[in-house]
Amino acid sequence: MEATTSSFLDTVLAQFDRAADRLNLEPGLRRVLRTCKRELTVNFPVRMDDGEIRIFTGYRVQHSQARGPAKGGIRYHPSVTLDEARALAILMTWKCAVMRLPFGGAKGAVACDPSRLSVGELERLTRRFTAELEPIIGPDSDIPAPDLGTGAREMAWMMDTYSMHRGYSIPAVVTGKPLEIGGSEGRAEATGHGVALCVAEVARRVGLPWPSISVAVQGFGNVGGVTARRLAAMGCRVVAVSDASGGVYRAAGLNVSALTRYVQEHGHVAGFPGGDQIDNATLLALDCDVLVPAAMERQIVRTNAAAVRARIIVEGANGPLDAEADRLLTERGVVIVPDVLANAGGVTVSYFEWVQDRESFFWGENEVYERLERVMLPAFDDVWRTAETHHTSLREAALLLAVDRVARAIRLRGIYP
Ligand code: GLU
Repeated sequence: MEATTSSFLDTVLAQFDRAADRLNLEPGLRRVLRTCKRELTVNFPVRMDDGEIRIFTGYRVQHSQARGPAKGGIRYHPSVTLDEARALAILMTWKCAVMRLPFGGAKGAVACDPSRLSVGELERLTRRFTAELEPIIGPDSDIPAPDLGTGAREMAWMMDTYSMHRGYSIPAVVTGKPLEIGGSEGRAEATGHGVALCVAEVARRVGLPWPSISVAVQGFGNVGGVTARRLAAMGCRVVAVSDASGGVYRAAGLNVSALTRYVQEHGHVAGFPGGDQIDNATLLALDCDVLVPAAMERQIVRTNAAAVRARIIVEGANGPLDAEADRLLTERGVVIVPDVLANAGGVTVSYFEWVQDRESFFWGENEVYERLERVMLPAFDDVWRTAETHHTSLREAALLLAVDRVARAIRLRGIYP
């Protein structure tokens, strides 16, 4: 696992290096941006339900705060490492810059399997981890949010723990909270909503007969599930979805509402009677217009990239392709909408949530979605035009825009002292 995760960081740094080369970035700035500004590792005890005390390891990495407070999710997953948190923090810096949000990038993680912890254990773990992070998080310095294995419930505990220690409520310390305590309308659906917007946008630009396109979605959680539902509602044919349990396929298009009810009842996709049972490898290799990997990083790699037959890939997850898969598919003419653009709807509505919390003035759902489109569509257009002007992939174009914006901020601020 270690080798895999450190090469995720290598991939992310190689993407940066390519952009830095093309931008002729000065060596000093390269050194600044190749390094994560602040990294905290904490080993902390949690009392388990049986009275046993277990030690958990957690991380918070802040890559850059040049354009504003650091921003990024907290992941609960058994195999997370510091290198993975670094890679994901760097991606957050680029993502916020591509979307022109006034944030830098961060990521946090706790090595644990949330499915094997009781609600009480999860609450004690989350509260203790928050207390350990207190020296470096805050509404003006670093604002966590949900990621893999966490959600609104964990954000509520984080917000409450931080607020208890200050003596008053500070909702803007985390985003992705429940609506009742300062969350934003649309935040839970925002990432999937943004992915669907990108699918529509890229399909239109490459001349596919929108919405009559076929889409396969890997992952049926907060990102993949919402994406599949949105696309089905827009009139697309969602031919396959999968999760860790397996997948289902129906050439004429799945009934995504029935599938959603099935997953709510059974907790997984496998066994859904409205389609043929397939595995994840088959899903990734389906002959369809658009493939949306929305599960985890490094799902399409050197060994299975050649099998991909989709014309377009829209990255719902962070880093779902490794460097070789990215190169191979780009050379073959597959259009890849990169993570830092495709899944940026989540952090964009996190920004809206933070703004609403700070003003204590909350927007309606329509306003959130309108504003999300007003941020995402110009960002898509920026990336598309940059790719055309520089004859590059959309990923390289997004990186060029992002690295240039962050570099400008550093130059303007200067190096202290
Ligand atoms: N974890 C999400 C991401 O990777 C959201 C981060 C946020 O909202 O701050 O973009």
